[in-house]
Amino acid sequence: MRRVSGDEGTATLASNQMNDRRGADHHSVRLANLSLVLEELRRHGPASRAEIAARVGLARPTLTRLVGELLDLRLVREAGQSGGRPGRPGTMVEIDGAHVFAVGAEINVDAITLIVHDLAGTERARRRAALDARRVGPEASVRRLAALLGDAVAEAARPLERPPEIAGFATAVPGLVDVEGGLLVNAPNLKWQRVPFASLLRHALGSDDVTVSIGNDGNFGALAEYWRGGSAGARHLVAIIGEVGIGAGAVVDGQLLTGSHGRALEVGHLVVDPGGPRCGCGRSGCWEAIVGLDAFLSSLGMPASGRRPEALVKQVVALARRKDSAALAALERLGRFVGIGVANLINTFDPDVVVLGGYFTHVATWLLPALWQCVEAQVIVTDTPAEKLVVPSSLGFRAAALGAALHAAEAVFSNPTLFARPS
Ligand SMILES: [Zn+2]
Repeated sequence: MRRVSGDEGTATLASNQMNDRRGADHHSVRLANLSLVLEELRRHGPASRAEIAARVGLARPTLTRLVGELLDLRLVREAGQSGGRPGRPGTMVEIDGAHVFAVGAEINVDAITLIVHDLAGTERARRRAALDARRVGPEASVRRLAALLGDAVAEAARPLERPPEIAGFATAVPGLVDVEGGLLVNAPNLKWQRVPFASLLRHALGSDDVTVSIGNDGNFGALAEYWRGGSAGARHLVAIIGEVGIGAGAVVDGQLLTGSHGRALEVGHLVVDPGGPRCGCGRSGCWEAIVGLDAFLSSLGMPASGRRPEALVKQVVALARRKDSAALAALERLGRFVGIGVANLINTFDPDVVVLGGYFTHVATWLLPALWQCVEAQVIVTDTPAEKLVVPSSLGFRAAALGAALHAAEAVFSNPTLFARPS
C-alpha cells in the first residue's frame, strides 16, 4: 500500500481500495450468476423463475433481479405460464437472443461450410460450397469464407429490426492449430503450414471488431455431437469425421479432451498398416491414407477433386443400391479398416458411444456390418453391443461447423453483458 500523507490519508486509501475490491468482487459475482442462469436455460430449456432459483441454488429475489437484467439485455424472454406443474403457475423464461449471432465455419480440402446461429441455437442461415482449398491456397480460401459470411449474415439479419451483434466467428480446420495465436500450424491434407488464420480472416472481413478463432475440426465435431447429436449428453463420447482426412475428438466425463498442446485425437495418423499407402503427412499406412475419402474413392477408380464430397458419395451410394460388386467390396473393406481404428479407440477410451460422421454417415448402411463385426472381435471387454456402441452421426458433414458455431456462442454465455449498451 502506498502511503499518501499521514495516518488519516493511509486509512482513506486503504478504505477506497477495499471498496474498489468489493465493487470488483460484486461485479464478478453478478457476471458469474448471469452466466449461470443463461447456461441453465440453455441446458434444460424454458423454466419458471422459481424452478431456475431452485436448480442453480440462488435466493428467489436475487434470481428475479438477474432474470430482469437478462430480459433488459434481450437474451431471455417470457414465454407464457408453466402449466400442469405442481405449485403455483409461474411465468416461463426462455433464451431469446435472436439479435445475437454466433457463426461457425469449416474449411476442408474440398468444401467450405458456414452456419449462422442465434443465441438460442436456432440456425438462421447456412452455406456450403465446393472449394479446392489446396489449389487456391489459404488467402483466397479465407476471402471466400469472408464473402460467404457477409452473405449468410445478411440473410439471417433480414427479419431483425436492427443490426445483429456477432458474438464470435469460429472456424474448424483439418489440422493442428495454435488456438491462442489464431495460427493454423500444419494441415497436411491442405498442404498449409503456419497460416496466420485469424489475422487473415480479420483482414478479409475488414474488421477488428469480430472475435475470430480457429480450432481443430475433430474437436469441434465432437462438441457438436456432445451438444446436439443423436447421442447428445453421453458423458464419454468419441466422434470420428470421415473427410479427405480423418478428424476426431473425444469428450471425457463431459469435457473435451485437448491434450497438453491441443493435439489429442490426431487419429488420422494412427498407423494401421505399416506397409500401406503413403499419407499426406509423409508417413505410410496411416488410417486416413486407407479410409479417408480420397483413398476410398481412388479404390473405386473415381477422381476426387473439384466437387463437393456429398456429390461424390452420392455416386457411390447409387452404385451400392444397384448392388455393384466393386462398390460393395470397397465398402466392406472400408468397414473393416474403419473398424480396426474404431476398436483401438474403444480399447483406449472406453466410451459410451462412438459417433461416425462426415462421409461415413452417408455410406453407413454398407459400412457398419463389417465394422461392427470387427469391433466385436477386437474390443477386449464391452457390455454394450457393437450396434449401440458405434452409431452413425445425425449431423453428417455439418458437425464441425456446428461445433464451431456453438463454441462461438460461448463468449456470450460466459459474459452475458458482452453487448450491453450504456443506458
Ligand atoms: Zn499420416
